Amino acid sequence: MVDGLLGDLAEVVGPANVLTEADVVAGYAVDWTGRFRGSTPAVVRPGSTEEVAAVLRICNRAEVAVVPQGGNTGLVGGGVPLAGEVVLSLARLADLDDVDLADRQVTAGAGVSIGRLQVAATEAGLAYGVDLASRDTATVGGTIATNAAGLRALRYGDTRAQLVGVEAVLADGSVVSHLGGLVRDNTGYHLPSLLCGSEGTLAIVTRARLRLVPAFAERVVALLAFDAVGPALAAAAAVRSVLPSLDAAELFLHSGLELVTEVTGLPAPFPEPHVAYLLVEAADQLDPTDALASAIELLAEVADVAVAVAADPARRQRLWAYRERHTEAISSIGTPHKLDVALPASTLAAFVAEAVDRVHSLAPGARTWIFGHAADGNLHVNVTGLAPDDDRVDDTILRLVAFHGGSISAEHGIGTAKRSWLSLNRSDAEIRAFRAIKAALDPHGILNPNVLLPAAS
Ligand SMILES: Cc1cc2nc3c(=O)[nH]c(=O)nc-3n(C[C@H](O)[C@H](O)[C@H](O)COP(=O)(O)OP(=O)(O)OC[C@H]3O[C@@H](n4cnc5c(N)ncnc54)[C@H](O)[C@@H]3O)c2cc1C
Repeated sequence: MVDGLLGDLAEVVGPANVLTEADVVAGYAVDWTGRFRGSTPAVVRPGSTEEVAAVLRICNRAEVAVVPQGGNTGLVGGGVPLAGEVVLSLARLADLDDVDLADRQVTAGAGVSIGRLQVAATEAGLAYGVDLASRDTATVGGTIATNAAGLRALRYGDTRAQLVGVEAVLADGSVVSHLGGLVRDNTGYHLPSLLCGSEGTLAIVTRARLRLVPAFAERVVALLAFDAVGPALAAAAAVRSVLPSLDAAELFLHSGLELVTEVTGLPAPFPEPHVAYLLVEAADQLDPTDALASAIELLAEVADVAVAVAADPARRQRLWAYRERHTEAISSIGTPHKLDVALPASTLAAFVAEAVDRVHSLAPGARTWIFGHAADGNLHVNVTGLAPDDDRVDDTILRLVAFHGGSISAEHGIGTAKRSWLSLNRSDAEIRAFRAIKAALDPHGILNPNVLLPAAS
């Protein structure tokens, strides 16, 4: 890369914010899982929307490709420079305005972490509806770019449902900003919806106006254990239909729980192992313990279920750890292939059994771990024991998902990992429309050019 270009970028953001030393940029060039590893001539760290605009103007003129990066917790290889792109780190866009109590909204910079946003909302007596285990590192910009969903999506929806307005910079450096926060605003195309889930291919998100939700002081968590996957999934649907205060319903299996307890040293939650576990949390203004107990009683009439309940924060957190520490435990034994998928409720249980069988017959040495957001039909199929570039299992599982009428990406996006399989879910006409939108907003194709859309043949 052209020293001249780096010099121009340094003039915009300051020399200290153009990182080029190999050991410094290395961390920006590998994803959270370690599966996707590339290289970059430079990491550029703008400190304002104006600086983002100036950086893009320079890169657009020179037709130099840029990969935006927030917290780098993405799981589909979408935020790392796999083809030698410049990394545009948005971490310094960390302004967080005061919470607007009248409108129950807040304006946040792209680099604000979800954890920090949640703390600010809580201090104002509200909450942010998107929560995920990567909360302390994942950013507002990254969660918008991936349309992250997470643990509370069954109640509050995904990031798109929180996004009232957005400020973003287009490839040519023009700034589009619509942060007024009006909930009723039908003045043309809804750019927040378009940019949400666009994985940095259409624009760089610099700020967002986000809706906040009521904070519930009273919470109770129950871990339910079942002797088969089907009843655990049926229980998620049943609890959802009778318990309006349901905040989360998370599935995991015996193999995953065993790994979590081995890796973390946590004690097993029940004296006997079970096949499948469902972690449910209810939250309300008044203590929801009795309502949750009634829902569990109904379940016990139709299935054998063992139950552990926690109301105080420390015990609730201990039960959550069995679910939330899956990702970390799996990564500790190898580099996983992560396949985040969604299926219709009627096919979920069959899919779990078939997925495990198919991986076993294709790669007998590999291990399959399945967990996820049960009430939304969103499962994370993780496979360890495969070479990073061995796509046979990815291909089989994604085709199985499509066969069952599911989506090959429930919440993590397409990234690099799944771009070759987009046509399983999207028709040629849809992909042509995607390419037309991309070409209109980014004619030189500088914004994250190697993700989401299949490589042009
Ligand atoms: C332990 C763990 C648990 C997780 N749990 C969940 C979960 O429950 N639900 C879920 O949805 N995800 C989950 N994830 C995945 C990940 O946290 C999300 O995808 C998150 O939205 C990524 O945010 P980030 O700031 O780290 O983005 P990055 O990883 O930095 O980037 C992700 C994508 O967004 C683009 N991007 C980043 N910032 C911008 C910007 N400002 N403008 C334009 N494009 C941008 C990048 O180019 C890339 O394509 C989890 C990850 C981990 C490690």
